[in-house]
Amino acid sequence: MKVIPYGRQFIDEDDIAAVVATLRSDWLTQGPAIERFERKVADYCGVKYAVAVANGTAALHIAAAALDLKPGDRLWTSPNTFVASANCARYLGADVDFVDIDPRTYNLSVARLEEKLAVAAKNGRLPKALVPIHFSGQSCEMEAIAALAKRHGILVLEDAAHAIGASYRGRPVGSCEFSDLATFSFHPVKIITTAEGGMIVTNRADLHERLLLFRSHGITRDPKLMDGESHGPWYYQQTELGWNYRLTDLQAALGESQMNKLDAFVARRRAIAHRYDELLRDLPLITPWQHPDTANAWHLYVIRLRLDRLKKTRRRIVEELRAAGIGVQIHYIPVHTQPYYRRLGFKDGDFPEAEQYYAETISLPMFAGLTDEDRDRVVETLKTVLR
Ligand SMILES: *Cc1c(COP(=O)(O)O)cnc(C)c1O
Repeated sequence: MKVIPYGRQFIDEDDIAAVVATLRSDWLTQGPAIERFERKVADYCGVKYAVAVANGTAALHIAAAALDLKPGDRLWTSPNTFVASANCARYLGADVDFVDIDPRTYNLSVARLEEKLAVAAKNGRLPKALVPIHFSGQSCEMEAIAALAKRHGILVLEDAAHAIGASYRGRPVGSCEFSDLATFSFHPVKIITTAEGGMIVTNRADLHERLLLFRSHGITRDPKLMDGESHGPWYYQQTELGWNYRLTDLQAALGESQMNKLDAFVARRRAIAHRYDELLRDLPLITPWQHPDTANAWHLYVIRLRLDRLKKTRRRIVEELRAAGIGVQIHYIPVHTQPYYRRLGFKDGDFPEAEQYYAETISLPMFAGLTDEDRDRVVETLKTVLR
């Protein structure tokens, strides 16, 4: 039996030719494909700078480092995300806290954020940075978030791992109109892929400079950034402690080729989401609500089971779907309930909306290469299992 995964890459002959051409070129890493890929993503997002890195987690890590997060600082994010959105603070010794989600969008709730900031301001415990994540590919309410952040002097780093190709109020996610930085992931299940890969976008020249340093050991070859005089053409200086988070040219060539298909990928994902909405309408579940200011890129299509109207548990439904070859997944186990975060003091009940959502959600197969037949098989199998 053919298994339909919840997500997968779409690779065509143009992608393969782009990678092969790079293999035959002079540069396998740190070559011209990196800058071309960065330029393409920056232009797409309408942003000044883009920095390609090894993966989306590395992107978050050096983005948080560029914001100078350090021990004693706090970073707030959503509990309904992949662990990397929170871990980026921990790598730098900073503390993490969470803001509960909006029960309609499953994104960080602006109302909860406003309340929590008011309390934190009183206690002198404001976060240095906020990481809104555009869950499933639907933008957060960035204008309201940016206004609150500005009022309290907080930096904003968008985790846009799900959302390349999405837009908010008509502008692409990643424009950084309402943030300091945004990061993308190009893992194979995401909207476009470089196998592993990530990117940071920003309009701030100072952050761009720091990102370039942190991507490559904290080393610079630019005499303007050096302490004292250059010794000659071989000379470099390590001015910060950085990492080796570079992307290869093979991957950048793949990413550049994938960018040519981004709008087509998103259009196909939107068509699948629209059809799922129609076909699932009369079932005991909630289809994804869309905020009118957003156009979703549909990394994920999540349903929320009406367990009060179902005889089976969510676990049983997932097991039966998987047994029937429908590779459903769950996004996300609330980050604060992971053992690592429990050891830092978080517990069940801390973020009830995220926990309630987790108990009821299932991600259905959603990817650009999903055929109409497979989509219909997903729907028919789901109907059978829920009956
Ligand atoms: C995938 C993902 C990441 C991490 O990206 P990698 O490329 O896998 O390191 C971070 N945040 C979110 C929300 C993600 O979905």
